[in-house]
Amino acid sequence: MTFRSLRGSTGRRFLAAPVSLALILVLSLASLAGCGLAADQPPPVIPHAQLELHFIDVGQGDAILIQTPGGRHVLIDAGEAADGKTVVTYLKKVGVQSLDAVIITHPHTDHIGGMAQVLSAFPVGTVYDPGYASTTDAYGKLLAIIERKQIPYHAAKAGVAVPIETGLTFAFVAPDGPASDANNSSAVVRLSDGNFTALLMGDAEKAEEEALLAASSGAGQPGLAAQVLKVGHHGSDTGTTAALLDAVKPQYAVISVGAGNKFGHPSPGTLGRLETRGVKVFRTDRDGTVVVTWDGVNVEVLVTKKK
Ligand SMILES: [Zn+2]
Ligand SMILES: [Zn+2]
Repeated sequence: MTFRSLRGSTGRRFLAAPVSLALILVLSLASLAGCGLAADQPPPVIPHAQLELHFIDVGQGDAILIQTPGGRHVLIDAGEAADGKTVVTYLKKVGVQSLDAVIITHPHTDHIGGMAQVLSAFPVGTVYDPGYASTTDAYGKLLAIIERKQIPYHAAKAGVAVPIETGLTFAFVAPDGPASDANNSSAVVRLSDGNFTALLMGDAEKAEEEALLAASSGAGQPGLAAQVLKVGHHGSDTGTTAALLDAVKPQYAVISVGAGNKFGHPSPGTLGRLETRGVKVFRTDRDGTVVVTWDGVNVEVLVTKKK
């Protein structure tokens, strides 16, 4: 697989980050030495010394791999059942041997369909799930594997942090209560090292965005500003409101979407709101798998398809 770089430095805002660079170096050395790993845990792959977000092309669905500077791995969603193999193959190709955490954003099949296959293929540290009730076969199968492999299972809800690596905040900022529907129960992830932040919306739509905006505006909250936004619900017009975009102020947006999908995603309205604000948009239907990297200085976006 070859990646083509589309974007280089995002400018001087990122250049004043020596603390973060030093931290990454320390983390990567610690990781090389096997620091803090239980004896029965496989060693991490070669540390990347950078944060990577892989938006894996699974057509109409979501599958996001996060590689931390210290070589930890988190998977968020795994596409439809037919995409399970694609996701497993991709993870192996980039050197994943185990998943420290797996996040199920919500129980729709375009997010959890392939997850049973992934959970079968890798040792998994912890599964996080907002727990929105679902009676589908896909969800039942998933819970059965979690049970069979006795994978620790935690609620994904606002305020819960995933203890992934020192120096990285990996936390759920939504949902904050019972949801009206599955999309609006989506586990929304905020990932930040203090200089770089990504906000991953799952299939959140307007109702969950409004709750998120209300909750994040309180005193002492980190706010929603992020360089990278994983656009909610495949870019449908039911979300990615002007209010959300004005709070997040992303530089880059990634839309995970299938070419020629029957839903008309992404919607012209959402694309227009992103364009108006000068956000650089990447789409898995046009760009293939999209990889965002942050090395403590620059954000880079790599794509697998030529436009
Ligand atoms: Zn979806
Ligand atoms: Zn959904």
